[in-house]
Amino acid sequence: MLRPVFAANWKMNNGPTAAVEFMRSFISVYPKQNDRTVIFFPPALSVAPVRAAVRERADLLLGVQNIHWEAQGAFTGEISASMARDAGATVVLVGHSERRHVFGETDEECGKKVVAAEKAGLTPMLCVGEKLEERERGETESVVLRQLRAGLSGLSAPHSGPLLIAYEPVWAIGTGKTATPADAAAVHRVLRAELSAFAGEKAGRVPILYGGSVNQGNASALLAAENVDGLLVGGASLDPNTWLSITTA
Ligand code: PEP
Repeated sequence: MLRPVFAANWKMNNGPTAAVEFMRSFISVYPKQNDRTVIFFPPALSVAPVRAAVRERADLLLGVQNIHWEAQGAFTGEISASMARDAGATVVLVGHSERRHVFGETDEECGKKVVAAEKAGLTPMLCVGEKLEERERGETESVVLRQLRAGLSGLSAPHSGPLLIAYEPVWAIGTGKTATPADAAAVHRVLRAELSAFAGEKAGRVPILYGGSVNQGNASALLAAENVDGLLVGGASLDPNTWLSITTA
């Protein structure tokens, strides 16, 4: 995966029709770039129509926002990793803060989803991040390390398969409050050091993205911070012009 990595988390926005329209207008202004990776996380229902509509643009990766850890069965409303793969996804978000804090997803479940993703050939993007009260109690480091270790606990070490990490402080997601580049760099350094224990010399190759109220105005400065290899963007990825200016930052 080429760095920088720009990932758009559309959350529950852009159903099949709107998602295809967005992608058609985006590819008309975004020619293939050989020095970066762009990933879209549309709602799961939009993945197959988008892949079909922009089949010629294999450089634009698609992912799903969540999977169940089981391969199939009586899990009404869920999708499995292999279904996501079949629809055209190659990446999956695991442990996004809305999954953890709105839907009560646990560290242990995130670990099982990472394993399921790997088994099905999906690259997991494991999201970690502290809540405001945890930051204020000085627990940022212990929280992100706990989430990272639990999320990766089911993978064999030293790990060499494809993997992405996203640091998303919960207090910065959808709030307009952004971590400073220095805040982001401090946490990314801790994550990189922990990845060395897990992935050995390959740790340096695991992209660590920052996410949380990224916009056109702050993208370049965040991307320039040490150990920040990309950006995971929610709200600002929903407007094609804003997203274009972030991905070409
Ligand atoms: C996200 O949902 O991953 C995110 C970072 O959202 P926003 O950019 O809107 O804060």
